[in-house]
Amino acid sequence: MDRGRSLGRGRLSGPAVEALYGRSLHMSASRMDQVKRCHFGYFMQYGLRAKDRRPAGFEAPEIGTFIHYLLENVAREVKIRGGWAAVQQPELRQLVREYTDRYAREEIDGYQEKSARFRYLFSRLRTAAYAIVEDMAGELAQSDFSPVAFELGFGGKDGQLPAVTITEGDQRLSVSGKVDRVDGWLHDGRLYLRVVDYKTGKKSFDLSDLRYGLGIQMLLYLFTLEQEGRSYFGYPIVPAGVLYHPAREVILKADRGIQPEKLQLALQSALRRSGMVLSDPQVLRAMEHSALESPHYLPIKVKKDGTIADGVASAEQLGKLGRYVDRLLHQIAREIGSGSIDADPVAHGPQDRACQHCDFAAACGFQEGRGGDRVRYIRSVDPGEFWKFVEEESREEGSPCR
Ligand code: SF4
Repeated sequence: MDRGRSLGRGRLSGPAVEALYGRSLHMSASRMDQVKRCHFGYFMQYGLRAKDRRPAGFEAPEIGTFIHYLLENVAREVKIRGGWAAVQQPELRQLVREYTDRYAREEIDGYQEKSARFRYLFSRLRTAAYAIVEDMAGELAQSDFSPVAFELGFGGKDGQLPAVTITEGDQRLSVSGKVDRVDGWLHDGRLYLRVVDYKTGKKSFDLSDLRYGLGIQMLLYLFTLEQEGRSYFGYPIVPAGVLYHPAREVILKADRGIQPEKLQLALQSALRRSGMVLSDPQVLRAMEHSALESPHYLPIKVKKDGTIADGVASAEQLGKLGRYVDRLLHQIAREIGSGSIDADPVAHGPQDRACQHCDFAAACGFQEGRGGDRVRYIRSVDPGEFWKFVEEESREEGSPCR
């Protein structure tokens, strides 16, 4: 076994790739990320369909569903009542209470029969829900952008827009999924859109990850909206950015029994967004009226001389980023099609490796340097390096258009 492993893990043959994955690859965003995180992990999860053993509970996916339900319903009510600037805190809290209770009654199977502890924990979610809704209200009350869609689907049975599809050789790859929220601003006959995602855990928008092909899904949806969104929204679309909203982490903190005073403090910093927005001053002002002086919600910094640093991209840069994301999709299709099962986990540092969060560690037996096993360290890049890299990548030939 050891001798065999020292020769490496090999590659899947063409027929094996086809038998395991088919010719048409249907992917979710998390599946796409898994390819880039570790090829052996991808093979275990989606080729062999090995199962992890996590206990069931009110965990991230359920929390995500709850947040979507709450925000979508509260936003609809707020619109009916005159918009975010017209609805005050007591009314907002009343709406949060109403929809949290309704969710428990109508969406959680046998809520009344659940343990007292479960019901107590669920009721605690309200504290965090208040903070998330009030934060969103604060942001939208002084913005010309407003939500134009919640849970907008790409592909799948109920997607409003088609799946993102590319063809690489004789392999077809289509990515389907949902965007948590899309905000729009209609200006001069064009609809500026930004995609908002409520993130799980501590994950934030990270240029270094993007450089390695990780975390591209929101950008992928943004650029697909640019191409396909006109038929759905009725206007030419201008991509205006992506924002990552750490709402689920806030809810999880509340769920873990943190003291209310500490929770309040934790919420303020935890709700800070990350992301990338269009650098056009008019658009930034439309997103947040004080963006060019003292941005509170946008992930940008204004320097003393008034220039904007971090978190922005010009329209030209976004165009190049679109081509880069497109190339990555082709790369992912090629990597799967070539039968790669390398154990090549990414790592942000020795203490932060994909293996530490991997459900297949025991079966995999990764050993750095044995056979082809190797860690790929994600080097941090500054915005200058990142854009230079994207420029070079987007210039290279050989990527068929989507
Ligand atoms: S343990 Fe590490 S190398 Fe093995 S499958 Fe998981 S991430 Fe990949």
